[in-house]
Amino acid sequence: MRITFCGSGAGGSVNPRRGAASIHLAHGDARILVDAGPGFMERMVDSGLDADAVSDVVFSHLHFDHAMGVVELFTRLIVRRGAPVTVFGPRDTDTYIEAALGFARVNSTNDFILRWLDGVSVELTRPGDEREIGGIAVRSVEVPHAPNLECLARRFEAGGRSLVYTGDTTYAPESLVPLADGADVLVHEAYTESCLARMAAGLSESARAGLYRGVGGTHSTAESAGRIARDAGVNTLVLTHIMSLEQDWELVEEARRAFDGTIVVASDGLSLDV
Ligand SMILES: [Zn+2]
Repeated sequence: MRITFCGSGAGGSVNPRRGAASIHLAHGDARILVDAGPGFMERMVDSGLDADAVSDVVFSHLHFDHAMGVVELFTRLIVRRGAPVTVFGPRDTDTYIEAALGFARVNSTNDFILRWLDGVSVELTRPGDEREIGGIAVRSVEVPHAPNLECLARRFEAGGRSLVYTGDTTYAPESLVPLADGADVLVHEAYTESCLARMAAGLSESARAGLYRGVGGTHSTAESAGRIARDAGVNTLVLTHIMSLEQDWELVEEARRAFDGTIVVASDGLSLDV
């Protein structure tokens, strides 16, 4: 398996250097988008990947910074003339995709062209789901991120190699340590306390409390990501979903407090063989 980051940034954190969350996963003939944040396609093309070869999309959850780019893919399907795409996702993905197809349909009034969008199908992958996608075994577990929103972390296995992607999550050892057990690569979302302090500087008391609640209550620190990597015994930890005021060295330093394996900070265009 080969992964390429088509977006390594965090939603709500405008950053021209990092797009919203998306990872391109290639294995055999399969070309899978793991999350599809807006702008993923340009970053995919920048990385030399074929934007028209995407065979499947796997959502971790339906927040805009992970899913809204699927509209770009569907609009592109009109050019692709109906090559099939299957979208796998948590609860409500069917409703979300129907809306996204509606956006794409506005791009043509020609019935013949609109039929090309019929090549899109949806499969819900609920917590505990195990299935094969493009020759890759995919296991899903629920992780805590936002109230009333199902968020799924995924383990991808093929050819004796394994990749785990957390999506967005708070520190969740009960779910993530078993899922990531012995994985070759763990891609874990992360922020640093130092970055949060920089963002909070100059804010009012209530805005500061809201920031800490909003980020701290729904995401993971780099040190927590390091703890998951350590406790699961993974080989390489890749930190992603990076906020614009982060410093790479601080992310590594905080994760290093818990984990002594290889630590990588994701960047757009970064490719890794898993
Ligand atoms: Zn996010």
